[in-house]
Amino acid sequence: MASAPIDLRSDTVTRPTPGMRRAMAEAEVGDDVYGEDPTVRALEARVAERLGLEAALFVPSGTQGNQIAIGVHTRPGEEVILEEASHPFHFENGAMGALWGVQPRTVVGQRGLLTPAQIQTAFRGHDDHLPRSRLVILENTHNRGGGTVWKPEVFAAVVATARAAGLSVHLDGARLFNAEVAAGVPASSWARLTDSTTVCFSKGLGAPVGSVLSGSEAFVAEARRLRKRLGGGMRQAGILAAACLYALDHHLSRLAEDHENARVLAHRLAQIPGVRLELDRVETNMVYADVPVEAAPLVSRLRVAGLLVNSVGPRTLRLVCHLDVDRAGCERAADILRASLDTK
Ligand SMILES: *Cc1c(COP(=O)(O)O)cnc(C)c1O
Repeated sequence: MASAPIDLRSDTVTRPTPGMRRAMAEAEVGDDVYGEDPTVRALEARVAERLGLEAALFVPSGTQGNQIAIGVHTRPGEEVILEEASHPFHFENGAMGALWGVQPRTVVGQRGLLTPAQIQTAFRGHDDHLPRSRLVILENTHNRGGGTVWKPEVFAAVVATARAAGLSVHLDGARLFNAEVAAGVPASSWARLTDSTTVCFSKGLGAPVGSVLSGSEAFVAEARRLRKRLGGGMRQAGILAAACLYALDHHLSRLAEDHENARVLAHRLAQIPGVRLELDRVETNMVYADVPVEAAPLVSRLRVAGLLVNSVGPRTLRLVCHLDVDRAGCERAADILRASLDTK
């Protein structure tokens, strides 16, 4: 009997739970473009408070949240300092150039994390020949870095360096709540230091749709205009915001289970001959593993065997733990990989 495949491609594949669906069905709604959706307003207020920022804006996706932030913080011709493998540089389809006419200045981090000295070096200084440095974007957890968590004191030092140079700071916190749970400090430890922060509910928190962009009142007023320009003004969006509120109440603390499952999975994978990974690099819900064969055909064989994963390099796989895969599923995933490598 064929069972459902184990899907570790991403934590975006989670489906709303029955409780979440009920909360959505029962949500009080209004027209949010008129500012009249009470559930959206409640979510925005709650996220702003959690992050230690003044105000917030519900947006359809993390990409849109990041791009609106870039649009508010910059003018055409200016430069954005960010990590080379960061989402806004790597995974947003060239949006910052296409939408806002700014150019990225990339810096190679240590597993996605930057140092104050790197910010200082990337900063252009004041010279009419040079683009004007305007914004630093940081990512926590850092996805391509391996789900890495910023140490709050290092983050603070990087932000201080950026500020001293007159730069604004945006945090791509798509998985900021994973960082909160992993580090055992509130998300505000990082977010309150920034000018703007994006968090996503459609990842490990298990909502079907939705991100929230937070910042000062003035920032959010501008962000609301750009959201409209991008077509992101949604009407009875409370039905989606209800899922996000439900996730804050019911799914946030359980992210610890995903982190534990990722460690269990990583341990099992590390015992497979030819598979290489560093166990102490598994900080949150992601496992990056090098395999002894070409990743792309292996991914196809795994799919047939009932395991869905992504290849992220010629011989590297990414496996992401989430709400819809339990401990047994993660153990089984490792067994499937072992068997697929045995048969070549
Ligand atoms: C998923 C993700 C986003 C946003 O993705 P959307 O699919 O647009 O919601 C942003 N940053 C990081 C680091 C992500 O992993």
